[in-house]
Amino acid sequence: MAPGETTLDLAGKQVAVRFLRNRRARRIILRLDQDPDGAENGVVVTLPGRTGIKEGLDLVREKADWVLARLDDLTPRVVFADGAVVPLSDVDHVIRHTSEKRGVVRLGIGEILVSGGTEHLARRVRDWFRAEASGRIRPLVCDKAAALGRTPGRITIRDTKSRWGSCSHDGNLPFCWRLVMAPASVLDYVVAHEVAHLVEHNHGPEFWRLARSLTEDMDGGRDWLKRHGERLHRIG
Ligand SMILES: [Zn+2]
Repeated sequence: MAPGETTLDLAGKQVAVRFLRNRRARRIILRLDQDPDGAENGVVVTLPGRTGIKEGLDLVREKADWVLARLDDLTPRVVFADGAVVPLSDVDHVIRHTSEKRGVVRLGIGEILVSGGTEHLARRVRDWFRAEASGRIRPLVCDKAAALGRTPGRITIRDTKSRWGSCSHDGNLPFCWRLVMAPASVLDYVVAHEVAHLVEHNHGPEFWRLARSLTEDMDGGRDWLKRHGERLHRIG
């Protein structure tokens, strides 16, 4: 990491912080640093003459609510509509409205083709994503649970805001459909995590060992969700 740059954890969100020095500044100045593709938006902290980096960081922490709200404003919202670009397994796909009367959704190469009335397009695409998520998540859950010698309870696909997946004490497993927009390895990690809870209901060392044994890149999956997960909630 370049000098004068760091990453700060604000309410679970990794925020890039860049420092500038300005001897004529009278106080510490915070402003948002907008990244063109929205993925690396952060904060710029201008420090007056003798003010240390620690004081700058303290101010960012103190203003965390403001920083997070501004960053949220900067994150673009993508609506499911003709021409919108949305990820499927982390690959951009263009939504295209086609002229056939009957309302169906088909997957093309780099495209999601939607027919029927435009007023139903967003709902059709959302339903299609949910079905796609279901089709990918169910077999993964079953395979991973079998590897642990467990039978999963009910697997449901929802639009959960705060968690990507969870596992109840009776083994029911709800997942967020938005995971299907993330890389396949990230989806795989979330499934592995929740399936490991069929055996270990805590986040102790044995839990992490089991979760790791069920997926290829656990750390990469966790990291990706921390950095990009929020963006998935702004689509559709
Ligand atoms: Zn967990």
